[in-house]
Amino acid sequence: MEQLIAELGKLPGIGVKSAQRLAFHLIAMDPEDVHHLAETMVSARDTIRYCKQCYTLTDQELCGVCSDPERDQKTIMVVETTRDMLAYEKTGKYTGVYHVLHGAISPMSGIGPDDIRLKELIERLRGDVDEVIIATNSSLEGETTAMYISKLIKPTGIKVTRIASGVPVGGDLEYTDEVTLLRALNGRVEL
Ligand code: ZN
Repeated sequence: MEQLIAELGKLPGIGVKSAQRLAFHLIAMDPEDVHHLAETMVSARDTIRYCKQCYTLTDQELCGVCSDPERDQKTIMVVETTRDMLAYEKTGKYTGVYHVLHGAISPMSGIGPDDIRLKELIERLRGDVDEVIIATNSSLEGETTAMYISKLIKPTGIKVTRIASGVPVGGDLEYTDEVTLLRALNGRVEL
C-alpha cells in the first residue's frame, strides 16, 4: 500500500492525500478494471511518441497532420503543447502544419531555449518555408518565447507572424473558444 501511494504521489498535481485516496479507490476497484487501467497506461506509454517532423504526440512516425498531402507544409504554426494544436485543429480552418515546442521559455522556472523543441524548429526552417505563425500563449512565458523565436527567424528572411491578442492575456489556448482562436489567427501581425 505504501509503495502504491508513493508511486501515485509522483504524478503531477497528486499530493499525499490525493495519492492515498486514489490508492484506496484502486484497492476497492474490480480487479479487471484495474488491469484494464494499467494495461492502457503501459500501452499508451509504449506506443505514443513524438512526430518526427512537428513533435506532437502520435502513434505514427509522422502524425496525421504532417502526413496529410492536403496540408500546406510551407506554413508552420508554433504552439506550446499538443493540446494547443488540437484546439486549432478543432476549428477545422487552419490548413498549414504545426511545430509543438512542449513548453515555453521561463527564466523564472529555469526553462531555457534548450529545454523546449526550438532547435528542431530551426532545423525545419532549412527546408522550404513561407511563414512561421507564432501561436504561443499570451502569458509572460509565451510572449518571451515568441520574441525569442522571432529574433532567431528574422535573419533567415522567412515571414514571421504572431497571432492577434484576441486570446485573453494569460489565457491558455486550449480553453479559448474556436471563434476567438480563428480571430486571433486571421488577425495575426507580422513581426
Ligand atoms: Zn507531425
